[in-house]
Amino acid sequence: MPRPLSATIHLDSMQHNLAQARSYAPLAKVWAVVKANAYGHGLERAMRGFALADGLALVETEGALWLRENGWIKPILLLEGIFDASDVPMLAEHNINSTVHCIEQIKMLEYTRHYRPIDVHLKMNTGMNRLGFRPDEYAAAYQRLRAIPDVRNITHMTHFANADELEHPRLTIAEQVRRFQFGAGGLPGERSLSNSGGVLHQADLGDALSNDWVRPGIMLYGGTPGGRSALDYGLRPTMTLRSEVIGIQHIDAGDTVGYGSRFEASGPMTVGVVACGYADGYPRHAPHGTPVIVDGVRTTLVGRVSMDMMTVDLTPVANARVGSKVTLWGDGLPIDEVASSAGTIGYELMCALAGRVRVLEG
Ligand code: PLP
Repeated sequence: MPRPLSATIHLDSMQHNLAQARSYAPLAKVWAVVKANAYGHGLERAMRGFALADGLALVETEGALWLRENGWIKPILLLEGIFDASDVPMLAEHNINSTVHCIEQIKMLEYTRHYRPIDVHLKMNTGMNRLGFRPDEYAAAYQRLRAIPDVRNITHMTHFANADELEHPRLTIAEQVRRFQFGAGGLPGERSLSNSGGVLHQADLGDALSNDWVRPGIMLYGGTPGGRSALDYGLRPTMTLRSEVIGIQHIDAGDTVGYGSRFEASGPMTVGVVACGYADGYPRHAPHGTPVIVDGVRTTLVGRVSMDMMTVDLTPVANARVGSKVTLWGDGLPIDEVASSAGTIGYELMCALAGRVRVLEG
């Protein structure tokens, strides 16, 4: 028997969340963001789960090629663009859209004629200060790109820094949209602004966000970028991490548990050892009190997470035994809740799922 730890990917929930994204942004075409192995869910599964998306967006050039070679015929977008001029023929041959965010990438396109059309997303830096041209240099970048004979459609794109928080004290979505309109206002071409946070706030910001393309990622996997719970937004978990109790200890007041003996029992209690540790992707820094579900009962982590195991309080779980079923996140336990207890985000937990964890579908 394999170790009783598995991640179940719910393809029906991926389809459901995509439909939810469409209901929040009904006028837009959807790039389903599938970078980082589809946020840990697997590119092949994402291709099936998001079969109804208008396109798939990712950062890995080899992933883009894999999608093409494995039957994805709709648009593909490279969110960081290409990394070398030698990648230009690949864009043309496989009809892959590339983000263009810096002058070096424009030069790569200028110097490599390919005689087949290439569609690009020109990226504006509206305050994130990661990738893109500043609003005041954007029109010049556009004109230079427009002059390249192989370049066909140019979509105008930016990325929000704080889309989960409408009233962010430093940089609001509204301010980024204002800068975007200043930079790209009069230029022809489609627009692509919103990540999940923008999609979920579409109703609050109305016209400012209703653009041609949206680029949700985390919401398609049943998480949120912050703020309210994914369940409040009608999203369903797409990854459930399950394990079992593989050992039980009965301890007394004053006994401690695990490395560093950081947890001390205040009275008699039953501790369950669960087959999942940080080498599986469970966050090592998850503190006592992080929620887990054992045989349908919500209880908590106690003691330090170790490489292959973690320990949980079985005291509230009637009839707990070796073999009791444990849910670490997913169905019945939002991943964002576990992440926030561990001081991280659902994105990181999904992406960090280790290769040794068996992945099932259901
Ligand atoms: N668009 C771009 C350019 C991104 O880098 C990302 C992810 O970081 C997304 C969209 C999707 O973001 P989210 O997962 O928050 O929806």
